[in-house]
Amino acid sequence: MALIKCSECDQTVSEQAASCPRCGSGIARKPVQEAPIPHSSLIITHKFLDAHLKSIAKAEMMCRLFSMV
Ligand SMILES: [Zn+2]
Repeated sequence: MALIKCSECDQTVSEQAASCPRCGSGIARKPVQEAPIPHSSLIITHKFLDAHLKSIAKAEMMCRLFSMV
């Protein structure tokens, strides 16, 4: 567990703490790096969703056609 310094009062605070125990100032933490999603997988997801939505639209159209008959 790493210790960081409070930006307000220089008190050493646990990295896990949400705020400084001495002055109550919020601890500025480095933003957690999220694992980058590969661009290709995003495209695949997009294509999949697109195909999925199209099939839903098709199914809806079929339902309408059949309900008209
Ligand atoms: Zn402090």
